[in-house]
Amino acid sequence: MKKACPQCSSDAVVLLRSMNLKLCSDCKHEWAWHLDAGQKPLVASNRADRGLTSEQQA
Ligand SMILES: [Zn+2]
Repeated sequence: MKKACPQCSSDAVVLLRSMNLKLCSDCKHEWAWHLDAGQKPLVASNRADRGLTSEQQA
């Protein structure tokens, strides 16, 4: 599946992960980007896993 702008159909789409947005660099249209089911936010899970395991084993 090709990601394309819903407004101008350009494929010059930038993914703004941190804001859950997609941005079309042609017409500057922004729209929401939803995580697929089962995907986790990477930043949150990395923190939790590392903080607990590394300190308890050391
Ligand atoms: Zn566009």
